[in-house]
Amino acid sequence: MTRKVISLAEIRDGSLRNVSLEAIAAAKTIAQGGEVVAVLVGENVQSHANELIAHGADRVVVVEHAQLKAYTPDGYGQALMAVVEAEKPEGIVFGHTALGKDLSPKLATKLNAGLVSDVVAIEEKDGEVLFTRPIYSGKAFEKKVVNGGLIFITVRPNNIPALSRDDARTGEVTTLSVDIKDLRTIVKEIVRKTAEGVDLSEAKVIVAGGRGVKSEDGFKPLQELADVLGGAVGASRGACDAGYCDYSLQIGQTGKVVTPDLYIACGISGAIQHLAGMSNSKVIVAINKDPEANIFKVADYGIVGDLFEVVPLLTEEFKKLKV
Ligand code: FAD
Repeated sequence: MTRKVISLAEIRDGSLRNVSLEAIAAAKTIAQGGEVVAVLVGENVQSHANELIAHGADRVVVVEHAQLKAYTPDGYGQALMAVVEAEKPEGIVFGHTALGKDLSPKLATKLNAGLVSDVVAIEEKDGEVLFTRPIYSGKAFEKKVVNGGLIFITVRPNNIPALSRDDARTGEVTTLSVDIKDLRTIVKEIVRKTAEGVDLSEAKVIVAGGRGVKSEDGFKPLQELADVLGGAVGASRGACDAGYCDYSLQIGQTGKVVTPDLYIACGISGAIQHLAGMSNSKVIVAINKDPEANIFKVADYGIVGDLFEVVPLLTEEFKKLKV
């Protein structure tokens, strides 16, 4: 059964988030040969349309408005409701990001539609589309089939590969004018807590520190290793609670859920709540003084040792490889 599927593109600091391209790839599988329409919402965002087409969108609908410069649930909700009314899609794909997690259930409820959230894989089998999603904090996976009606999907970053860029692809770009009104929230200014750098939830490499890092300064060698690897720094709740780093770095059940290609856990014991946020990383390296630490049970490579000796050694070796 072919479907018309729309996917919402997210822009952060003026660039398309990678998960927006992954959402297009997901939409393609769900559409089963039907049309994939990418949607750009914001102020002055049309310039990103060609990139969406190059990554597989058949068409792009742009909704621009001064009131859409920053995300608000009311503003984006009104914009997307107008797109849904105009396009009448059978599927809507979001990234499983703060925005996607906030907006998709709100719209799904309004439209009396189903929602499959935090999808990590999508496959076509016997004409049906199967969605795989983690349950019980990542300890098990369930596969869901959705029959008929409008479906909302959120896809976890770094799990569904984006289609390779093809600048020869062409597609129509249209604008939809929407009257944004009655906003209950007005965003005056966005002040970022964390330093600029690689976005933790989309990072391919994460170097994470726990209570074993011992101080704010203790995170410096981890940041150096992350910089050499082009990655981001994350943390356990133990490190955040101890005041060594900001809570925006927290990974786990009550923090961010990440799936990088490489996760290096330094001085993290491996509590179940931490594993819930990182155990699906493709390769896990654990550095811990305690050979019995639980983190070694999920690690592909374990280094029993002092992180303050091991991490600088790794940084030096990776630097040599880069030369
Ligand atoms: P610790 O458990 O204290 O471990 C520190 C580790 O560092 C030890 O294994 C030690 O051997 C090692 N170490 C010490 N010095 C060195 C050194 N020099 N070199 C190498 N290794 C060293 N936790 C999360 O992380 N994320 C969550 O989202 C989260 N949510 C929670 C939700 C709930 C409802 C609850 C109850 C708890 C939650 N927790 C969460 C907390 C979790 O249970 C653990 O307390 C926390 O993960 C422990 O952090 P840690 O591993 O950094 O610290």
